[in-house]
Amino acid sequence: MGSNEQQPTRIAIVGGGIGGLFCALAIHHHCSAAGVHVQVDVFEQASQYKEIGAGVGIGINAARLFHQMDLGDKLNGIAGHRTGVWITFRRFDTSEDIVTVPVNDSDKIRQAPCARTELLDLLKAAVEERGAATLHTKKQCRSVEDLGHSVRMQFADSTTAEADIVIGCDGIHSAIRNQFVVDKPVFSGQIAYRGVIPISALSSWPFPSYSVAWLAKHRHLLVFPISRNEQLNIVAFVTKPENEIADVKESWTSICDRQEVFDDFAGFDKTAQEVLSLMPEQPSKWRLNDRQPLDRWHYMNGKVILLGDSAHAMLPHLGAGAGQSMEDGWLLGRALSERLSGSTNSHFASLGSTAQLYQTVRLPRAQKTQATSRAAGNTYELQTEDMLDKSFEECIPMIAERTRERMKWVWEEDLDAAYVKARDGQGVASKVEGHGGHANGELIAAKGMESVTQPVSIEAQ
Ligand SMILES: Cc1cc2nc3c(=O)[nH]c(=O)nc-3n(C[C@H](O)[C@H](O)[C@H](O)COP(=O)(O)OP(=O)(O)OC[C@H]3O[C@@H](n4cnc5c(N)ncnc54)[C@H](O)[C@@H]3O)c2cc1C
Repeated sequence: MGSNEQQPTRIAIVGGGIGGLFCALAIHHHCSAAGVHVQVDVFEQASQYKEIGAGVGIGINAARLFHQMDLGDKLNGIAGHRTGVWITFRRFDTSEDIVTVPVNDSDKIRQAPCARTELLDLLKAAVEERGAATLHTKKQCRSVEDLGHSVRMQFADSTTAEADIVIGCDGIHSAIRNQFVVDKPVFSGQIAYRGVIPISALSSWPFPSYSVAWLAKHRHLLVFPISRNEQLNIVAFVTKPENEIADVKESWTSICDRQEVFDDFAGFDKTAQEVLSLMPEQPSKWRLNDRQPLDRWHYMNGKVILLGDSAHAMLPHLGAGAGQSMEDGWLLGRALSERLSGSTNSHFASLGSTAQLYQTVRLPRAQKTQATSRAAGNTYELQTEDMLDKSFEECIPMIAERTRERMKWVWEEDLDAAYVKARDGQGVASKVEGHGGHANGELIAAKGMESVTQPVSIEAQ
């Protein structure tokens, strides 16, 4: 394996979503820079590379990576543009300000709230233009088999393919993860109604360039502009008991009557009501799940590696899940390029130790994001343990206090510095505060956040 051998290393990416395509680009970027020739194949289960018609917020941490790969201008070209403010949190009933959080964007490297379809199209076009990978469709991977020096993937259409390294980017319901770990997605207690509307359809819109969240007990409505600030992405969150949502799936095809949204958001201020009135007649009704933190992200002596939601599916309350998958891809690409270019650093002595370096750097930060996403969702719906017996008015200052600085560590981490520190033996910069600790003054629910440590059929390193 490596650049000196005749055959290039074969890397298979299972899942061509945001994480998988970004990973293909990052591998290509780092390997090209290191003069390493690899053959990358992306195996996507769907019949085309396509995203759902909703928005996704890309934070500065992930936007920076686009710029490093010379894709920053393209990203800015499809994104909404924040002008100095990230988000304003408002009372549900009067729209009065609770806290407004500034953002320190530069003209070039800035937050990028996007339409998912436009983001995926950008990634796919870049993969094709750069020859970063061969893209396959209708390839649903069912299982992987260890052949010693390589891995065989078995697809639902009865075909197989072999690779030296398989990267599982197949989302929260990952078939690759399911082969090694006995766990299931965890219901968060919340659902979300989702939709996108043109901003021009609103009679007036006082928040043209940034996110707004109206907060109430058990409900909150989040909107943010995407697509050059022409469209408004809507995510309306509601806490619901499991028995009321038995038929609700984690899918764009799970829909409801718009009247349900009106009923759930009765009492919200008129600006919020107007937004909801423009939602499609049958908006998407989405079950919000995440996963327990997973202690191990690589199997079969490093030949199978998890990335993105398959490794750390999280709730959307930090708007950070896609960005975390991109951070994974960036550093995995860097680690693989160093291994394949023959680095003598001991971390690259084997594929297993290379995968372990990736995990060492990425796991604590991704799990902290996972835990903080849960905590943030509880705060926005006034559901943290210390808010349960308090009135709405009493909770307002607590929300402001916990929200002001929450995203700082997500956005400002120097990923490459953390990687170099771990690689050169000085430990990992990010530490996990998640499990039962405090993040930004916020109690992170220890219960329900235990790590999953029950992998089956994995070899010792
Ligand atoms: C309501 C909501 C709002 C969100 N908002 C944000 C946000 O604002 N910002 C943010 O950063 N994140 C957000 N997220 C999280 C974000 O969507 C995910 O973290 C991100 O999409 C993960 O990317 P992924 O590539 O790992 O997985 P996915 O996007 O799920 O992609 C997985 C891909 O793998 C394919 N696949 C699945 N199984 C197989 C198989 N067996 N074989 C082959 N292919 C397979 C799928 O078809 C898909 O293309 C939000 C999530 C939700 C639910």
